[in-house]
Amino acid sequence: MTERVVHRICPLCEASCNLELRVEGDRVAAIRGYEDDVLSAGFICPKGVALRDLHEDPDRLRAPLVKRDGVHVEVTWEEAFAEVERRLPPIQAAHGRDAVAMVFGNPTAHKIGLLLYASRLGRALATRNVYSASTLDQMPKQLSSGLMFGHWLSVPVPDVVRTDLLVVIGANPVVSNGSMWTVPDFRGKAKAMQARGGRLVVVDPRRTETAQLADRHLFIRPGGDAFFLLGIVHALFAERLVRLGRIAPHVAGLAELEAAVAGFAPELVASRCGIAADDIRGLARELAAAERAAVYGRIGTCTQAYGTLASWLVDVINALTGHLDEPGGAMFPKAPAFAANTAGPPGRGKGIAVGRRRSRVGGAPEVFGELPMGCLAEEIETPGEGQIRALVTVAGNPVLSAPNGPRLAAAFARLDFMVSVDVYLNETTRHADVILPGLSPLEEMHYDVAFPQLAWHNVARVSPAVFAPPAGRPAEWEILLRLLAIATGRGARIDVHALDDELARDDVARVAGPMADAALAAVAGRRGPARLLDLALRAGPYGLTLAQLEAAPAGLDLGPLAPRVPEVLRTPSGKIELAPPQLLEDLARARADLAQPAPDLVIVGRRQLRSNNSWMHNLPTLAKGPFRCTALVHPADATRLGLADGGRARIAGSGRTIDVVVEVSDEMMPGVVSVPHGWGHDQPGTRMAVAAARPGANLNAVLDEAARDPLSGNAVLGGVPITMQAL
Ligand code: SF4
Repeated sequence: MTERVVHRICPLCEASCNLELRVEGDRVAAIRGYEDDVLSAGFICPKGVALRDLHEDPDRLRAPLVKRDGVHVEVTWEEAFAEVERRLPPIQAAHGRDAVAMVFGNPTAHKIGLLLYASRLGRALATRNVYSASTLDQMPKQLSSGLMFGHWLSVPVPDVVRTDLLVVIGANPVVSNGSMWTVPDFRGKAKAMQARGGRLVVVDPRRTETAQLADRHLFIRPGGDAFFLLGIVHALFAERLVRLGRIAPHVAGLAELEAAVAGFAPELVASRCGIAADDIRGLARELAAAERAAVYGRIGTCTQAYGTLASWLVDVINALTGHLDEPGGAMFPKAPAFAANTAGPPGRGKGIAVGRRRSRVGGAPEVFGELPMGCLAEEIETPGEGQIRALVTVAGNPVLSAPNGPRLAAAFARLDFMVSVDVYLNETTRHADVILPGLSPLEEMHYDVAFPQLAWHNVARVSPAVFAPPAGRPAEWEILLRLLAIATGRGARIDVHALDDELARDDVARVAGPMADAALAAVAGRRGPARLLDLALRAGPYGLTLAQLEAAPAGLDLGPLAPRVPEVLRTPSGKIELAPPQLLEDLARARADLAQPAPDLVIVGRRQLRSNNSWMHNLPTLAKGPFRCTALVHPADATRLGLADGGRARIAGSGRTIDVVVEVSDEMMPGVVSVPHGWGHDQPGTRMAVAAARPGANLNAVLDEAARDPLSGNAVLGGVPITMQAL
């Protein structure tokens, strides 16, 4: 048996660790961290080891399924695409392009073929009904970044290896290793910061694993982040602590910002956020005094009614304290490919546009080309012109990951047609008429399109496929191109490689003009995502080639994060917009909400090391061990509600209930219950035996799909009032 050692970037979370795989014949014998890697330096978490489970999972689909008489049966690829061609185009012809919706799930961001070609399919469908996981957890940050800096992915990240003070709000990077921040081995980096005298401050309604490592932890009332941050901004102005530093000539809106926060003194916001005014002022002074400091906010700051305000204020504070775009502060990575903030003339751009259309039923504005996931069910259910009658899902499971999954499931069941590009028959794809499974991650080359734009260090890395794809199995990009051909009337039997050539030629002609032929000649022999990657690398800021990356399995080190203002900006003014009008207007909503009393009991989610949303619950390596889908309850709440550790309880919210196992823990803030999301694998008609053995409860079932941050359309997933009683 041949034995070899290969390297593969892990696609299972944003940390993007490079792994070392020992392969014996056609099996993975062992997985460990790759010590030489320029980004992850040998780090690995249990999910990375489970990559082998995913590859070998007998439940992972290896052939297309078509639903016949209510049961999914295996068919040939020709039969599956013929079924799509038989059913999808007539719906488009009879009801128009908006009758077909697209839903992108979170794993789409972790596979280059899915990300680049699902976008192609979306453009070809030309439907207004595009939905994604972005409006479940990250759109507020993308919107605030777009408004301030001019592009949706110009998100500053902490320069953790040089900072002296890191304030983490509503995030748990010890477990996640970063989200909208690619930072493998956060724990090691935080400890190194502390060893050189730096401080870690965590603000969270749970004493998370990150909070346990911190020098200081402040409980915050869920949903109170914007108020807490407004108090800090107010204190910075009131105490004359604002110092913009080097970016001062590139900032607009300072006076407007100062006027807008006038009504948010720490003493006025303290009860709304649950943090004492002295603590708010103290942190403002500490941030202002620190030579190198960064504030980082993530999921808790996004998944709430004031998500965009909170996301904006994080970067406002970084700017006001002189820590934006400074070493040791919050900095902009420079990715080697695909980054819009390295394209076009530097320093100025078109900025972003929102609200170019509205959802048909609820009138929610479009953001980043999408409508809020919370609108999807009503757009399927409500008759009239533009009603959604067909759905294309790509690596998504919104029945578990979106609020009020039961309503979504019922809506999916009434669609005229649904096709899913997915490797599992899960709680969402069980409603699909056709399921088209892609390859195992180990059977495809890998490049992270998005995460180098959010990484703690500038790098360029690619992984070749570990195994050749099985004969006759198309890659996801080929599946998506065939769907594109069907949707555009070119038929299921099209030569997808000729179509790919045609689309690549069109792309290159648009950006390279008369140089198009030369650009294409340089990448001759490449095809699909590899060709698009090679083109993007060559056009990128480092002028790299795919061959250079392929020759460097440990990656190319492109250097530490470096100041990028004003070059990174793409706002029409060429400035950092500290006071975008939409955000200042939204402060009126916050002002009216200042006196809102704390509900008796609210619920929040939590990130877990052996889980990532709903995707990995079928992998034995991760599923074993203690049952993890528990409801954490503070001892005082447990006593007053009569709940026992290990006992069962019923949680009621938004008119629905779930039954959970109680775990009493003083890591919770009193009045706050935490249940991880992505569970609830007890639906009939799925094919995920390991997950179904311990299904857990679906937190999102008791959340309200109509509760959203009105600016970004992001779902409110935290701080939702509930009741709880023992069973
Ligand atoms: S931290 Fe993320 S990228 Fe790294 S091994 Fe774990 S799952 Fe994979």
